[in-house]
Amino acid sequence: MNQQHPNKKIMRDLINLQRKNNSIMAAVINNNFEIVSLGRTTVITDNDPTGHAEINAIRSACQILNTAVLPKGYWLYSTFEPCPLCSSGIIWAHIDGVVYANNPRYRGKEMDWSFISCHEMLKKGSYIHSVKLIEDFLVDEIKDYFL
Ligand SMILES: [Zn+2]
Repeated sequence: MNQQHPNKKIMRDLINLQRKNNSIMAAVINNNFEIVSLGRTTVITDNDPTGHAEINAIRSACQILNTAVLPKGYWLYSTFEPCPLCSSGIIWAHIDGVVYANNPRYRGKEMDWSFISCHEMLKKGSYIHSVKLIEDFLVDEIKDYFL
């Protein structure tokens, strides 16, 4: 076993789930490249403005592992660029790396919520926890979603 990030299978699984569930999808990945938790957007269904896919995946992973700070080496995959809220959650959870696919350039008529980019958020928060970032991974496989 000699896996490394970014992992195509993980992202392709999430892209397929996005198309099937009609929701942006995120997952927390452990050191063995296993999905610990999946998150989908629950803003409308739960009347929860913070119910973004990434936050839901992180919340669920922390509950499963019974910890407020994830172990070293955990990564988060998301089918869309994490917004400022989620980028902050990624820092608080001590996620070590983020891989995302689609980005606001392909948002179609929907509002661009990336008023501070994930890259910029992670950079500003790096004094709290340093997070690696892989952008636009497999974007060609999902950029048609909102168009
Ligand atoms: Zn978000």
